[in-house]
Amino acid sequence: MKIHEYQAMELFKEYGINTARCELALNAARAAKIAGDFGSKVVVKAQVLVGGRGKAGGIKLASSSPEAEKIAEDILSMEVKSIPVKKVLVAEAVDILKEYYLSITVDRDSKRMVFIGSSSGGVDIEQLAVNSPDKIHKLYLASTDIPPRKEIQDFAVKIFEDESLAEKAVDTMLKMHRLFLEKDCSLVEINPFVKVAGGGLLAVDAKINFDDNGLFKHPGIAELRSAEEYSADESSARCAGLSFVSMDGNVGCIVNGAGLAMATMDVIKLFGGEAANFLDVGGSSNPDKVLTALRIILSNKKVKVILINIFGGITRCDDIAKGIILARDGIDIPVPLVIRLIGTNDSEGRQILKDKGLTVLEGMSEAVQKAVELAK
Ligand code: GDP
Ligand code: MN
Repeated sequence: MKIHEYQAMELFKEYGINTARCELALNAARAAKIAGDFGSKVVVKAQVLVGGRGKAGGIKLASSSPEAEKIAEDILSMEVKSIPVKKVLVAEAVDILKEYYLSITVDRDSKRMVFIGSSSGGVDIEQLAVNSPDKIHKLYLASTDIPPRKEIQDFAVKIFEDESLAEKAVDTMLKMHRLFLEKDCSLVEINPFVKVAGGGLLAVDAKINFDDNGLFKHPGIAELRSAEEYSADESSARCAGLSFVSMDGNVGCIVNGAGLAMATMDVIKLFGGEAANFLDVGGSSNPDKVLTALRIILSNKKVKVILINIFGGITRCDDIAKGIILARDGIDIPVPLVIRLIGTNDSEGRQILKDKGLTVLEGMSEAVQKAVELAK
């Protein structure tokens, strides 16, 4: 799960990570008031759950309260990467001497937590990772224990030019490490982490992602979930208790079990097709779930065919068949259905569908191939 910069800034403050003074505004008048109260230059920042706001024009400096009002009005009426801006963060502007990059995340290949840092932080970090990977330093952690200070120091001196700056960075890294573990994060990122006059280091941007599987431990964070992170069909699927992810292709998928759903997407690709979604209807067999799943998939107009791939275990094929009939009688299904049923009660399921004139396949390859052909 992602949260907005202003929410991440709150967590940074809670963990003692230095940030610039900032406050959220929902309208331009409020932004002007905050700028007036700060009595300094401010940065007005679009609060959207995507990166690259600076380059997209969603971050602007204002040198007075009236200017902050004008800029907030502009930003509040724009879209950043097709997401309408509804909130802005007004932050006290700082004079940046240098921009660094610092983050902590999990490296899936080595299955370890890793600190990532660079002395060339800022809006071009992705480019830097591609063109000059040598400028990006990594520190893999041996365990979830607090890493030895010496190890972090050795890492920090490679990035921060003088020792006193490196020492400050070490303190910040230890705080990031604690935040990362205590809140079950998947990413804590400061970009840019800036050097200001007087030798201080300040987090000018804040990005935190959470592991969804740990959210039950943090109800206060779970409630920060924003609808903006999910497509409309992902949101309705979530409400219906279905595990669903939107994809770019045109083959809609209804599958039981996350493993089979992943395998189904692989086989679709193997036969030259592209899945429109990942959908796991789960283990329990409730005909209503099939109906809901079909409804959600059909709301995506790109879908040209729906592949139903069920390997019945706890899920009973006759219940799935009843769900399909329920849907066919209740809603308009303008695309062909390719159905593969096998496992618990499959002969009953097949009979139910046959009686209503629907064909059922047994083999997975056969079914996927047919669906991919129909989608072309
Ligand atoms: P992002 O583009 O979504 O990552 O947004 P950031 O919050 O990182 O801001 C983008 C860029 O705006 C930063 O890399 C800075 O160069 C600049 N910026 C942000 N805050 C300030 C500030 O207080 N003062 C100055 N001078 N520049 C800032
Ligand atoms: Mn940034």
